[in-house]
Amino acid sequence: MAASPTPASPKRKATRHRGEGQWAVGHFTPLNANEQFKKDDDGLNVRTRIETIYAHRGFDSIDPTDLRGRMRWWGLYTQRRQGIDGGKTAILEPHELDDEFFMLRVRIDGGRLTVAQLKAIGEVSQEYARGTADLTDRQNVQFHWIRIEDMPAIWQKLESVGLSTTEACGDTPRTMLGSPVAGIAADEIVDGTPALEEIHRRVIGNKEFSNLPRKFKTAISGSPLLDVAHEINDVAFVGVVHPEHGPGFDVWVGGGLSTNPRLGVRLGAWVPVEEVADVHVGIVSIFRDYGYRRLRNRARLKFLVADWGAEKFRQVLEDEYLHRRLIDGPAPAEPVERWRDHVGVHRQKDGNFYVGFAPRVGRVDGATLAKIADLAAAHGSDRLRTTAEQKMIVLDVTEDQVESLVAGLEALDLRVTPSPFRRGTMACTGIEFCKLAIVETKERGRTLIDELEARLPEFDEPLTININGCPNACARIQVADIGLKGQLVLDENGEQVEGFQVHLGGALGLEAGFGRKVRGLKVTSDGLADYVERVLRRYLAEREEGERFAQW
Ligand code: SF4
Repeated sequence: MAASPTPASPKRKATRHRGEGQWAVGHFTPLNANEQFKKDDDGLNVRTRIETIYAHRGFDSIDPTDLRGRMRWWGLYTQRRQGIDGGKTAILEPHELDDEFFMLRVRIDGGRLTVAQLKAIGEVSQEYARGTADLTDRQNVQFHWIRIEDMPAIWQKLESVGLSTTEACGDTPRTMLGSPVAGIAADEIVDGTPALEEIHRRVIGNKEFSNLPRKFKTAISGSPLLDVAHEINDVAFVGVVHPEHGPGFDVWVGGGLSTNPRLGVRLGAWVPVEEVADVHVGIVSIFRDYGYRRLRNRARLKFLVADWGAEKFRQVLEDEYLHRRLIDGPAPAEPVERWRDHVGVHRQKDGNFYVGFAPRVGRVDGATLAKIADLAAAHGSDRLRTTAEQKMIVLDVTEDQVESLVAGLEALDLRVTPSPFRRGTMACTGIEFCKLAIVETKERGRTLIDELEARLPEFDEPLTININGCPNACARIQVADIGLKGQLVLDENGEQVEGFQVHLGGALGLEAGFGRKVRGLKVTSDGLADYVERVLRRYLAEREEGERFAQW
């Protein structure tokens, strides 16, 4: 069951970078436990063991390395044992934090769903996941309370409608972000759908790319709204118009958040849609071959890009992987709108409409997803999208059906004209299910939205509030106007309670940058609504003509 590395460019002197564990310089000896288990057996192979052994013999039969390692290649993480407080997260051993239930992520590249697929997701949620279903900021749907015994039936149901959980987690090419309005938006620069499909065909589930140094995140969008957070993906293709060659994509590499955040850099190259997959394969191959494998916290592509710089990265891509020069190209333009989520009613280029709507912090449930599918079908649509902001969209609605669809969504508490607080607040999984979490996030986010709507009905401009349950960055705290990093803090009585370190002034877009950590500014979870209200009231009182919140 060995999975031997087979780098594309092995003939290199095995000297200078040997210490980083790069395959391309001849270093194939695993330097940590993760590299060892990946070498011992490809993560994709665990599926057979789940279906033939673990699903029949139960949780206790699972090999520990499969349990906390290879299961991820099929979208499965053990979830946090209920009732363990955040103070114990860093103290307990992994097996003490594990529950016998799993989180399961469904891969939805580009957020593209049919009515039948959404119905199937709703059914899985209700039959196997105690009704749970969260929309993530990578356009996935995430279930909780999954039993290993149910996985064969879950895969059967999902795969019967063309969905999968393949490489939804793990050191793999994860779910690819795509513009949720690709192919339909009236203002689209270029449709990235053919590229997304071709990359999926060539890369996903392919054992040439299933042992990467760490996770690898891809984003493709031809929308002028820059709607896939391209700055914080390992590789991103962003729609631009070349003055001679026309519409195509500007290539970015090396973005990523977490504890060492870096924004992606442009390679200065323009790529037509039919060549995007070639370039993607070249970049994911560079990551596989040259990526650092010694330390997990230095293994993302961003560290290689930081060391090489964009110029060398492009040179290696062209010389060793593409064997041709790329065309120089322009940078994307600044979007005219701040909101990137496509919420609201918008006309498509074919004259129909798409309708974007907002649950609170991505939290829905299986029954609601089934109702959304029924609503879409009843209004003549067979296509839906998830967005990179934990929202959803119904596509292809004729003008005479829009009003009725909007009323149906609003009746489910899915707002088509949400407050800025509902629209702009995201939250990660948090302590409810995440083993790394220190604080609760989803319920806190929900109550924060309700509180701010009640206290500040006059606030009417774009604003992002991102809530994380720990120092990782699953909800992108560093690029939010108000970023909240979960940690234990002291309350006014000196007691340790759940709270947040505050970051202010982060942004995506052409003025992208990380929020400032406000020194010493920590708020308790219970005091969060008071704090945000104070910040926003002060902004409203002091703002100048043309100023927006992020510049405050
Ligand atoms: Fe878990 Fe931390 Fe990620 Fe939130 S940010 S989902 S708590 S790892």
